[in-house]
Amino acid sequence: MIVAIDGPAGTGKGTIASLVSRRLNFTYIDTGAMYRCVALQMIRDGIGLDADIQKIKELLNRVKITFKNIEDKQHVFLNGEDVSELIRTPQINEIVSPVSAIKEIRIKLVELQRELGAEGDIIMEGRDITTVVFPNAEVKIYLTADAEERAQRRYKELIEKGVETTYEETLESINKRDYNDMHKEMGALQIAEGAEVVDTTHMSIEEVYEEVKRIIEGKR
Ligand code: C5P
Repeated sequence: MIVAIDGPAGTGKGTIASLVSRRLNFTYIDTGAMYRCVALQMIRDGIGLDADIQKIKELLNRVKITFKNIEDKQHVFLNGEDVSELIRTPQINEIVSPVSAIKEIRIKLVELQRELGAEGDIIMEGRDITTVVFPNAEVKIYLTADAEERAQRRYKELIEKGVETTYEETLESINKRDYNDMHKEMGALQIAEGAEVVDTTHMSIEEVYEEVKRIIEGKR
């Protein structure tokens, strides 16, 4: 079974997918982490957003992204290096959306995501999973929440990690990313046909989990 979840940043997609994966025995694939890995490699190689396509293609050929569970938490590896923390900095947040708007990058990662989803019970979350990657998934969910609530959640996460930022900066960054994510030429964030919309603004994590579980069990 494929469970596809899309929605803007900070709606709890990762948290919910991770819970479903552990409690209901699904393999979790965080597609945002894949775009973040490519963004990190671009920074490391000094390749800018306006680089020529050949350079980007070469970079994509050099990048190997893998996932591994360590003590119940999913870790992301870029060419064998654990980059789970390195890909979640404000610097990456800033460039990941324009990076993911580059067509060659989308084509390559969508292909990889389809391969990863080919076997077993999969829960995959991102921005275009219900619309592009697996439009025929058995379960399609669109998670949403007010931008202020999402910024509050993200701000708390960043502060806990010791990142210096303000709530206003976090809100601005979320609004900018929402706009970019919804206005991409390819793979723009939108509600897929047949997707169930869950507004998590006033819901706890457990409440969202219960709702998602109910949707999954209804389709089983
Ligand atoms: O989910 P997360 O916030 O980690 O995703 C980072 C960025 O990667 C998103 O803001 C979006 O621009 C991009 N992305 C995408 N398609 C996906 C997943 C993420 O374009 N399927």
